[in-house]
Amino acid sequence: MPRIHVLDDHLINRIAAGEVVERPASVVKELVENSLDASARAIDVALEDGGRRRIVVSDDGQGMDRDDALLALERHATSKLAAFEDLDAIATLGFRGEALPSIAAVSRFRLRTVPGAGAGTEIEVRAGRIGAVREIAGAHGTSVEVGSLFVNVPARRKFLKAAPTELSHAVRTVGQYAIAHPEVRFRLTHDGRGLLDAPPARDLAERVAQIHGREPASKLIPFDARSGGVAVRGFAGRPVDASPRRDTQHLFVNGRAVTDRVLSHAIVEAYGNTAPRGSFPAIILFVELDPAQVDVNVHPRKSEVRFARASQVHDAVRDAVASALASTLAVPRLAELRPEPAAWSAPASTVAALGRALEHFDAGEPSRAYRATAAPPVAAAVPRGLLDPDSPAAAQGRRATPLAQYRESYIVAQDAEGILLVDQHVAHERVLFERYLAAAETDDVPVQRLLFPVTVELRSDEMIVAEAEIEEFRRLGVVYEPFGGHTIRIDAVPAFAKEVAPDRLLRGLLGEAGKTRSAATGVAELRRVLVTSASCQAAIKVNYALTREGMQQLLDDLFLTQNPTTCPHGRPILFRLTLEEIERAFRRR
Ligand code: ADP
Ligand code: MG
Repeated sequence: MPRIHVLDDHLINRIAAGEVVERPASVVKELVENSLDASARAIDVALEDGGRRRIVVSDDGQGMDRDDALLALERHATSKLAAFEDLDAIATLGFRGEALPSIAAVSRFRLRTVPGAGAGTEIEVRAGRIGAVREIAGAHGTSVEVGSLFVNVPARRKFLKAAPTELSHAVRTVGQYAIAHPEVRFRLTHDGRGLLDAPPARDLAERVAQIHGREPASKLIPFDARSGGVAVRGFAGRPVDASPRRDTQHLFVNGRAVTDRVLSHAIVEAYGNTAPRGSFPAIILFVELDPAQVDVNVHPRKSEVRFARASQVHDAVRDAVASALASTLAVPRLAELRPEPAAWSAPASTVAALGRALEHFDAGEPSRAYRATAAPPVAAAVPRGLLDPDSPAAAQGRRATPLAQYRESYIVAQDAEGILLVDQHVAHERVLFERYLAAAETDDVPVQRLLFPVTVELRSDEMIVAEAEIEEFRRLGVVYEPFGGHTIRIDAVPAFAKEVAPDRLLRGLLGEAGKTRSAATGVAELRRVLVTSASCQAAIKVNYALTREGMQQLLDDLFLTQNPTTCPHGRPILFRLTLEEIERAFRRR
């Protein structure tokens, strides 16, 4: 058995490289971070063969003198941390002092750097061993060239993907830092071709347009909020624009690009059931908080963080994003609605259940409120007096006024920006969904005891679900008891759904629950599915006359929901014909 010995630095660097350097994009990330830490105003990234052959990152930052340049290539050499306490409040992107030596250990590496005053230095490193050191001249700044990545780590080199894949990761990395630093010029070339040239931008919005294009950027909704020491700002994509790819999601904590479950979860919650399943709304999120409240030293690639007060950060993010989604900016225009959104994939069962539900049951209690049979539906313009300036919706500047009901199915309304067309069924469904879910979360669902309990004979698969999920159903206000054999007795239903035949309601819910059992998906997902299904069943349908007051009430209720633009299945609820579009159509513009 050989004796234990301490590994030499060269070997240590190669091992560290295994963690720090995964692919060309990780090299780009480390080098761009170093340039930003060196206060660069312009950063150029040049790649060849997706970065597999060569990566060059050049900046006009403060540069290094000869001694520092040599030291920078040593392991754990950093200018960014001095004392133990510094680690608790890191304000720079780097701090571990291992990126340069790690990258140099697995590539053909060249560092050229010129400080503000004095001579510059060029250092070549071949697979971790320092070679030629030369004096150079030039403007201050640093250029790092990384050739033949993983030249001496064949196992890693084998795992590199084809150039286009590696390139797309690197492009994303550059885009991400460009968004985090609108004031810095970013350029990216690949095999000599320019892919990105983002001159210093006035603000975040302009930079987002440079990176993602003017059109998509113009549809993003800004948010900016602060709560208890946590500042949250950025842009949220509209649910209707959600894409099946995640690459328009950028999360930053104190300027550092991160992946983080707490933040991701907050975003998912903010969107609720508004974006179609399996699709990702665009989001650019900056969280700013006291560096002492966040640990960035969790992972060698520094892409993960840990929050001291995770739930505070979570809620601040959720609320900020949700407020953006509730804004009228989230309402899509007619031209933007695809007849069949590619990303929309409500499970076929839900669609079927929706169809079934619509065929059969009667209007529920809340529908009555909208209907108020005394007054006939209106088609005339609404007198000003009808606008109640004290309504909560009006107070939030989000009021829409009904003008008419079209085919007893769609509400025609106007708001500050144009004409709205609202699908009354899905609008009501959204309102019920949010109220019902909130009540269920606090175990506070108002129930209607049945004067005459209803017994239902179930199939065995339904019976299994009914028995297993009896507690969750009770929480949702659907109260039943086994009644011998395959029969159960329904004693109470949620008050809002009391007009739905209880057996039909329960069967519909059991069908959904059979596909989404709490054991497999967690109770939260099951609850959402059931709440969605019950809301759909109880919501007013199309071909249902509404009074003007009823329409106003529904619109007000809708605009107070977290997301008035898409229903819990991800279908659009409303769209807007803007005044500008109208004027264009009539050639008034
Ligand atoms: P870290 O960034 O964690 O300190 P690195 O290995 O990435 O570790 O860099 C080591 C040191 O080299 C940095 O602390 C910094 O002082 C210096 N350095 C690296 N890149 C640059 C650059 N582009 N401009 C100026 N100094 C740099
Ligand atoms: Mg660094």
